[in-house]
Amino acid sequence: MSAAQVLHAARAAGIRLRAEGNDLILEAASPPPSALLDLLSSHKADIIRILRWAKHGWSSEDWHAFFDERAGIAEFDGSLSRTQAEDQAFASCVVEWLDRNPEQSPPGRCLRCDGHDHAQDPLLPFGIEITGHVWLHSRCWPAWRDSRTADAIAALATMGIDKARTPPPQERGSAFEDERLRRALSGSSDVEELDVEMG
Ligand SMILES: [Zn+2]
Repeated sequence: MSAAQVLHAARAAGIRLRAEGNDLILEAASPPPSALLDLLSSHKADIIRILRWAKHGWSSEDWHAFFDERAGIAEFDGSLSRTQAEDQAFASCVVEWLDRNPEQSPPGRCLRCDGHDHAQDPLLPFGIEITGHVWLHSRCWPAWRDSRTADAIAALATMGIDKARTPPPQERGSAFEDERLRRALSGSSDVEELDVEMG
């Protein structure tokens, strides 16, 4: 079970959750099942992270409005089927979430592997000037991108924007959305060129 699924299960069981510092505060009318408490405990750090995102970002209503707007545009202006339009809307939500929740890291260390800058394996800045950069080895970027995407999907799931209604990634989204997603996750064009050379 992912942290987002545990959070869903807890809410379905009538538990209200909030983060206070590094503590996860639970409120419930009756004692929750111990199996659920064990799950909450083992996913505590991730659940606190998701609750913080939810608190500082858009509300569930905001995300649904954005999703519906994107799906409507794709369906009616892009002449896509409803399913394709929803797939594209979901991809847009992931991009939007990543834009709204940028990550930063100090130079000199790879955010992913904690390794240093080497001549044969340089650290590269990914991201844009406005929101700051994360520093990664070129080879560490795919894993970082995947974990960021997973974070976005988990956070969106807690808002009721669900990946379940989308097909597997290889069938999902258009080239346009893939390009936007790639841009949101990578950085300036020179970094991308460097990536290609190194890849
Ligand atoms: Zn690295």
